Amino acid sequence: LPLDELIASLTVDVPDYPEPGVLFRDLTPVFADGVAFRRMVEGLAAPAASDPRAAAVAGDGGVDGDPGFDVVVGVEARGFLLAAAVALASGVGVVPVRKAGKLPRERIAADYALEYGTATLELHADSVRPGARVLVVDDVLATGGTLGAAIALVERLGGVVTAVSVVVELAALGGRVRLAPHTVHALWTT
Ligand code: 5GP
Repeated sequence: LPLDELIASLTVDVPDYPEPGVLFRDLTPVFADGVAFRRMVEGLAAPAASDPRAAAVAGDGGVDGDPGFDVVVGVEARGFLLAAAVALASGVGVVPVRKAGKLPRERIAADYALEYGTATLELHADSVRPGARVLVVDDVLATGGTLGAAIALVERLGGVVTAVSVVVELAALGGRVRLAPHTVHALWTT
């Protein structure tokens, strides 16, 4: 089965969650399936190796050992499950972008609008070194507010976002346009 079809077949649509009128895509069954999880993790890491900026820094186009990024940034909370696995599979470290009030040390913050409500994301000020190549990962791209804030935080620390990967892109919500000029790699667009 192609990966997008596999993800689609395991995703459960939940009407009116967390609010009336919202169709929530529940990916937990995709995460719980061993084959789907492995393919998903490989798919999220893959686009970064072909990014020209990754090649320019690494000098070898990302082939043979260089994944095209130096660190994976995951967005709380479902993004953590993916980012840690991608980092382990790629031989790099993982850095959390967290919701407000969770990080203990010096941090930077970005406010953003959600598909439903508003929130603040934070990043430890020393967690991304200037010039580091960063893969940013989350489960779902909806309006793009969440990933936009995460990208902004990384860039404020001088990180170079060489790839943005999500499992599912909800195309009707326009997140891809909002994140331009960054390109989003989605394993399934619906
Ligand atoms: P955005 O900021 O792009 O509007 O919303 C994306 C964020 O909200 C992601 O962190 C994602 O986890 C969550 N989200 C929004 N809609 C859905 C959905 O239908 N399913 C899941 N699993 N998460 C969603």
